[in-house]
Order: sequence, then structure tokens, then C-alpha cells
Amino acid sequence: MSGEYLKSAADASLEIPREVTESVRDIVDTVRDDGDAGVRELTRRFDDVEREALRVSDAELEAAAAELTAAERRTIDNTIENVRAFHEEQFAHLDGFETEFGDGITLGTRLVPIERAGVYVPGGRKPLVAAPAMTIVPAVIAGVEEVVACAPPQADGSVQPAQLYAMDRAGADEIYVAGGAQAVAAMAYGTESIPAVEKITGPGNVFVIEAKRQVYGHVGIDFLAGPSEVLILADETADPKLVAGDLLAQAEHDPRARTILVATDRDLAAAAVDELHDQLSTLRTEDVARESWDDNGEVVVVDDVSEAVAVANEWAPEHLQVMTDDPRALLEDLHNYGSLFLGHHAPVVFGDKAVGTNHTLPTLEVARYSGGINVTTYLKVQTHQHLTAEGADSIAPWAAKICEMEGTHAHQLSAERRIQSAESRALAR
Ligand code: NAD
Repeated sequence: MSGEYLKSAADASLEIPREVTESVRDIVDTVRDDGDAGVRELTRRFDDVEREALRVSDAELEAAAAELTAAERRTIDNTIENVRAFHEEQFAHLDGFETEFGDGITLGTRLVPIERAGVYVPGGRKPLVAAPAMTIVPAVIAGVEEVVACAPPQADGSVQPAQLYAMDRAGADEIYVAGGAQAVAAMAYGTESIPAVEKITGPGNVFVIEAKRQVYGHVGIDFLAGPSEVLILADETADPKLVAGDLLAQAEHDPRARTILVATDRDLAAAAVDELHDQLSTLRTEDVARESWDDNGEVVVVDDVSEAVAVANEWAPEHLQVMTDDPRALLEDLHNYGSLFLGHHAPVVFGDKAVGTNHTLPTLEVARYSGGINVTTYLKVQTHQHLTAEGADSIAPWAAKICEMEGTHAHQLSAERRIQSAESRALAR
């Protein structure tokens, strides 16, 4: 890559340790063979929890809501509303079509929702309260008939209340207490109580990622997400305090999170790095953020904005934040990113938590071919055709000729049986 590197990040890849692959294979087999009993046994083993009913009851949903303050419920509702508004608008701009391409030849496309979606909501150290909105709401808007959601249990066997409330409010039809690879396997193959789905979405730890990889093909998946990333593209108009703070907001996610600053101004880059070190020591999440920055922080100084754009496109980061004088001028040139944050007032945290765009985004250069979860994640773009006898007569000789060249004889006959006119018969010869 071009530019002068003041600091380089370690290489990153989605390497799954072999023992994880093997352990996940056992987990998937156990769930496939033993169903609910397998899920219960694995929950005992990995979560140290005994739970008879895997499905969350209405009483548990009510208890979770009651455990939150009114202000907490309002905060979660606000995010869900904003995510709903954005994805409804996204849906409104999608359309199928039906067009006559020749006399008697009508071709079309329809956007058809998958029947059942399975959403994994990760548990873990910090309750990810905005996450359910990001995976469940687009499925509901796409028209998925049954949205099944799984989340891991806390030590007492319940799902963390803010997460559970968010899953319910986002529109999950059924919620099950199951974590990790066993949850993914259960939604892929079905158990006595957990329905098999057509597609599994949502982030998670390495066991979740590996399980999605293993069940892919039997079901669809969104993508395999690695550690989170931000690339900030800044010029001399950027405030070093804001740049540093926004880099740290990504670094605190995970020691493996990657944070990259691409600056057109050396003084800005140096000031932002100084500022970052000052801010680090005041963070409650200092340990993780410091490890992440030390190992996976990167600072590149480039000659001008067009070189910065080239570096950003090559990186294809999950989050791309543009802090320049005229950020919208770069919209057309930037083409590899999960989500784009334009201007000094658009930090990643807004998209992550509240503004309405989706935060389940591609990492590790997957942004070269995917833009993350959206309503089409839950839709199939399907085609159809209707031909009259006249339309069939006009296309049949062409189809028959291709079949003849291929030696696909039954195909050829199928086409030729639709020929009616002497003209087409002559063409087919
Ligand atoms: P998780 O819900 O992904 O996994 C918890 C489950 O892992 C447990 O229920 C347990 O069953 C299973 N597990 C734990 N140890 C195991 C073992 N040794 N063998 C087999 N299974 C085991 O929660 P988490 O672990 O806290 O991870 C959350 C992850 O989600 C983090 O890595 C975070 O970075 C990621 N995340 C990513 C995004 C994104 O958009 N990319 C968003 C939110 C969270």
C-alpha cells in the first residue's frame, strides 16, 4: 500500500484454530443427533447452566422488561425505531419488475422473503443491547414469516434482560436460550423445540463463526465476521481530539480490533497519536483499548486526499470515517466499506448504537463484496418468465440451436416441440 507508515498493524485473518473446528464439529453432530437433549447437555457443559425449557416464556419476557427502568426501555425502543425507519426506507427503494422483452415474452423479478430466519444474538462480557435491532428488524421488514432468535444464558439460566427486551421489541417471533455453536446447529438442523431455519445471521465468538461456516450450504448465512475495524480518513481540518477518541472507541471492542488513521497531514497524525495516548489512560476500558492499539493500530501519512481514498479502498474497512473539509465529495470515489460515516459529526458510535443504519458489517476485506446486513439479506431476488405460443415460437429455434451445440438432446426436443411457424422451423435447422 502507498503512504508513509508511522505505525503498522499486525496482519489479521479469520484463522480458526483446528481444535475449535473439531470441537464445533462435535457440537454440531451432538445437536443434530440428540436435538433438545444435546442442546441441554452442551449448555450444561459450556455455560454451566441447567435449563429444561429452551424457549423463553411470556413471563420471562415480562420479567425482563420489568427489570429495566422506563428510561432504559425508551433508549432501546428509540434505537429499534430508528433502525426500523431506515430499513423501511431501504425496503421501499427495492422493487421487482415485469417487462415484455418481445412479443409474447414477459420476464420479471420478484423479491421474495425467506420463510424462517435464525438470528444469533451474542451474549458475553458486555450485553450488546443494540445488536438485536440490527439483525431482527430487517428480517421483519423483509416479510420473513418466522424470526427465530437465540441468545446464550447468563449464570442463572436467563437471557440478559436488556438483550431479551430488545429481541422481543425488535420483533423476534420465538426466542430460545442457547449459546455458541449449539445455537447455530439447532437453528440449522432443528430440534424438538427449536425450528430449523433457512438462513442464520448475526455475529458471535469463534465458536459461533465456525459453526456458521460448518452449517453453510445446509442453510444460508450472512457472512463470517472477524474483529471489528475502523479506518479514519482525515485532513488538516480534523480535530485530533475527536480523531483519537473515535479510534479508541473502536479499539475498546476487542484486543484484535483494528484501528487505522490515514492522514493527509503529518502534524494532524502526530497530534492525534499524542492525544490518543492521553485519552487512553482515562478510559475505563484502557486495558483492552491499549492492547488493541499497540498491536493493531496503524497510522499512514499520504500526500493528498486521492491517495487516502486509494488506501481506504484497498483496506476495505468495516467502518470508514471521513473527517475532511468536504467529505461528501469523496462519496463517489469510496467503494469498499461496510458503512461510511461522512464528516466531523458522524462518528461510528452513532451507526453502531442509535442512528438507524445497520451495524452488522463485514470485516477483513469482506467489504470488497458485501455491504453487511440489510433487508435483502432476508430476501431472494427471484426471476420468472411467461411466454405465449407466439413468444415460444420465436425463442425456440435459438434455444434448440444452443442445445444442439451442447449435445443436450432432451433439451433440444423440449425447445423444438414449441416451434410452430415455418420461419422458426427453418431457423432451427
Ligand atoms: P457469544 O454469544 O458469541 O458466545 C457465547 C457462547 O460460546 C456460550 O454460550 C458458550 O456456549 C460458547 N462457548 C464458550 N466457550 C466455549 C468453548 N470452550 N467451547 C465451545 N463453546 C464455547 O458471546 P461472546 O463469547 O461474548 O462473544 C461475543 C462476540 O461477538 C465477540 O467476539 C464480539 O466481538 C462479537 N461481536 C461482533 C459484532 C460484529 O458486528 N462484528 C457485534 C457484536 C459482537
